[in-house]
This record gives sequence, structure tokens and C-alpha cells, in this order.
Amino acid sequence: MPSKINPFKSAMEQLTNAAKTLNLDPVILSLLKNPERILNVSVPVRMDDGSLKVFEGFRVQYNSARGPYKGGLRYHPQVNMDEVKALAFWMAIKNAVVGVPYGGGKGGIAVDPKKLSKGELERVSRKFIDLIYKNIGPQVDVPAPDVNTTPEMMGWMVDEYSKLVGRLELGVITGKPLSMGGSAGREEATGFGGVAVLKEAANHFKLKRGATVAVQGFGNVGYFFALLAAKAGFKVVAVSDSKSGIYSPKGLDVFKVHEWKKQMGVVAGYPGSAEVSNEKLLQLPVDVLVPAALENQITDKNARKIKAKLVLEMANGPTTPEADRILLRRKIPVVPDVLSNSGGVATSYLEWTQNLSGYYWSREEVLKKLTAYMADAWKNVLAEREKHNTDFRNAAFILAIQRIARAMKDRGA
Ligand code: NAD
Repeated sequence: MPSKINPFKSAMEQLTNAAKTLNLDPVILSLLKNPERILNVSVPVRMDDGSLKVFEGFRVQYNSARGPYKGGLRYHPQVNMDEVKALAFWMAIKNAVVGVPYGGGKGGIAVDPKKLSKGELERVSRKFIDLIYKNIGPQVDVPAPDVNTTPEMMGWMVDEYSKLVGRLELGVITGKPLSMGGSAGREEATGFGGVAVLKEAANHFKLKRGATVAVQGFGNVGYFFALLAAKAGFKVVAVSDSKSGIYSPKGLDVFKVHEWKKQMGVVAGYPGSAEVSNEKLLQLPVDVLVPAALENQITDKNARKIKAKLVLEMANGPTTPEADRILLRRKIPVVPDVLSNSGGVATSYLEWTQNLSGYYWSREEVLKKLTAYMADAWKNVLAEREKHNTDFRNAAFILAIQRIARAMKDRGA
């Protein structure tokens, strides 16, 4: 998705806002303005036709004050350094908001996975690990899935890493298949955590039962969010994928839409629904708008047209700072990504602890622990919001930056 808005610039603006409220030590602030380490690699891959192609790969290790770097790997043609830097910074914030002992990192490869065969994707994934394995590890940097990357790919990467270091290291990557150290509950964790936050927000803002929800994006996050929101009594009236969206004011059967998409490849055409563009989906008259695709979707161009009473961010960075200001003026609260989608990394943490201890929990146990993390994160962000009389995003950043700064100072910064 081409976008002229630089997400790292947005991230730094959010950092500066919170730093101002906190009167943050300028040394800590300047340390937080750059990543600790950047890995930028060329990934040569033998294609099925015998030719050799080179893809650009990134891993940004932003901050490790609170623990090993942690964050996903994205495969997308538009992956670039500023995007990865922003996402890595947001991971440091998110991990601190949800209270897991990790720093922040993120990575990706500029590749369109839809144009590669399975064999080619496996070779890209393994080669990327060959190039970065000395700089990752269970106590160093722990990647996970993100846009267009799957548990299967995580499995290949763990296998490659383990071969290189000469021992099985399940804790080097999370979001793995269940058969090789994945956690029960990880697949739906991000959506599950988001719905836990949605329930808190609906209570807080006194949304009525059966409140309507529109979800942009129907991948791992959007699908499970929509499915579990519908199960929790919300009415999901619209969903979309990269091609277009569907709308039915009566409510959609999310599971059946997913079956339809598996068969047809797109959500469009689902019986009984009207087709809406992604842009129109954002402007539907719903109670809750949930961007769950990519960054920079709600901008100064469309923020005035949003009719939702509440925006709950499930994608990373879907709202630009200008749009944030417009929504704030229009009194539309935005529950930020670093709070509402932190269920994924919280469960990645639970997966990692299971890998390190070799003792595994049931899905119920995992989801119970995850529910507690989400409830705590919501409560702590709300407390900062009230204390500083500020918006949710700034409150979440304030909470996180205090925790990161404390760890940096305790390490001697
Ligand atoms: P995914 O690859 O499973 O799905 C992405 C979805 O977005 C697909 O349905 C795709 O068709 C759709 N999409 C792409 N471009 C779009 C566009 N322009 N408009 C509408 N839809 C579009 O990815 P995912 O893991 O679901 O990640 C989605 C977002 O959530 C990303 O911002 C990611 O960083 C964030 N996130 C993911 C996790 C996780 O655990 N997977 C955790 C936290 C945050």
C-alpha cells in the first residue's frame, strides 16, 4: 500500500508528546530517538526457474532495556527501513504497556509472497535466518509472525536457526506450529486480546449491547477479532481484505465469510452483503471502527468523515498523528494499537516461557493468563489517562516510557 506518510516520523511525534507530558530526561529521550542496532541484508534466493533473485531484508533492534528484542517479521513489497524502525519502536512501547519483559524489535523482507512458490518462500525464510542468526536468540532477539508470515514459516526459521547453532532452540521464535513448541491459543491471541479490550472500552463508554463493528483487514488479526467480537455479542456489519469490503447492516456471519474467502480468495461477493471499498468501510455509520490491516489508513484526508463513536486499532500504526488530533477534536476516542493488539505479544511471551521451561499449558490456561494481562494493561492505561487528563495513546506511551526509562536508568543510562 503506497503511502507518503513516514511512520517513523509519526512514531517520533508520539514519543515527543509523551516525553513532554513526563518531562522526560533529555538523555533518555535522545536514546529513544534511534534504534540500538539495525541489520540490513541482501537475501539471495534461487527461484524455481533456476534464476537468482535478491530481496532486501531488515531487522531493527530498537531497545533492549526491559529484555530481549521482540517483534514480528513482515513479508510485503512495501517493507522499508522507516516502516520497520517505526514498528520496532512501537513494539518496545507495546511490550512495556502490556508488561512483558521484552524490549522492542521488528523485521521484514521487501517481497510479495503471493508471487513466490512455497519452495521459494521457504528458501527466502531460511536464507534470511542464515544472514541474521548471530544477532538473534532466545535471550537476544525473538521474532514472530506479522503481515503475510505464518506459523509454518516460523517453523522453517526455527529449524534453520537450530541447525546453525547445533541445538534445538524453540525459544528463538514465537508463533510456531503447535507441533514444534507453539502455544495453544497463540493463533487467535491478538484478536482475543483485542476483544478483551473492546469489552472494557464498551463498558467504559457505555456502548449498548449489540453495538455495531466494522473491521478493515481480514487476516489473522481481523478475522479472529471479528469472530470473537461477534461471539461476545457485538454485531460485525462490515469486513474487508486488500481487494475490497462487504457490508450488511443486519450483521455478518463471520465464520461463513471466512469460509467464503477461503473458497473465493476474496470477501467480496459474500451472499446478502453489499460491496464497499476500503475507504468507504472506514466511513460507515458504526459504533466501533477497527482498522486491522496496515498503517496510515486513518489520515487527515478521511478523519473528518469517520462516523464511528470509537476507533479501536488492531493494526499497527493505522492512524496518523494529524488524524489523531482531528479525532480528538471530534471527541472520537482512539484505543491505540500498543494497547489493543498487545495480546499477540503477550501470548508470544507465554509461548517463550513454555519453550524455556519445557512445560506446556492448555488453551484455557493460556487464555486465562492473557485475559489477566489485557485487563491489567487497560486498567493501567486508563489510570494514566485520568492522571494526566490526556488521550488513550498518550496515556499508553506515558505508561510505557516510564517503564522503559526506569529500566534504562537502572542499567546505568
Ligand atoms: P495478515 O497478513 O494475516 O492479514 C492482513 C490482512 O489485511 C489481509 O486480510 C489483507 O488482505 C488485508 N489488507 C492488506 N492491505 C489492505 C488494505 N489496503 N485494506 C484493507 N485490507 C488490507 O496480517 P495480520 O497478522 O492479521 O496483521 C494485520 C495487522 O495487525 C498489521 O498491522 C500487523 O502488524 C498487526 N499485528 C499483528 C499481530 C499478529 O499477531 N499477527 C499482532 C499485533 C499486531
